[in-house]
Amino acid sequence: MPLTPFHFSPGLLTKVFGPRSFWLTSFIAANVLIDVEVLYYLSRDEPPLHRYLHTYLGGSAAGLLAGLLMWCIVMIIVRWMPAGSRWKTRLNQTPKTRLLNQSLLAGLIGGISHVFLDSLMHDDMHPFWPFATGNTLAGVISVPALHIGLGLLGLFSLILWLLLREP
Ligand SMILES: [Zn+2]
Repeated sequence: MPLTPFHFSPGLLTKVFGPRSFWLTSFIAANVLIDVEVLYYLSRDEPPLHRYLHTYLGGSAAGLLAGLLMWCIVMIIVRWMPAGSRWKTRLNQTPKTRLLNQSLLAGLIGGISHVFLDSLMHDDMHPFWPFATGNTLAGVISVPALHIGLGLLGLFSLILWLLLREP
């Protein structure tokens, strides 16, 4: 969907109740990357807007790519951080391969959840391409209900995150 921020809600919720090691940035990057496809076809006025990245196969690949890119970015940034920074210390205490796996996993969850949520709305999607075409889930929940639900989920998750996170 072009309203990408609605996709961040499940990620925020996972950040609040899931493991501390959940890479919310990679989750978000995956969602943004997948919707670049929609923006691209929208700008060219070439429907259908939801194509390869809006399938479980393409979305997973985009999610893993986002996870890899975000890990690379964090590895570069952490080199420039001052030696005493807590963030740098915490990252340096964790093996780089484990950090990579965490980032890939968050990206993958972002990609799969993106395709699932979008498949509830868009009948131009083929989530199970290339194994099956069509999208039987489209329309099972009304678009306003989905947006309100995800918006509220995101809002409550954000408030909980701000209240519960360790200083
Ligand atoms: Zn989308």
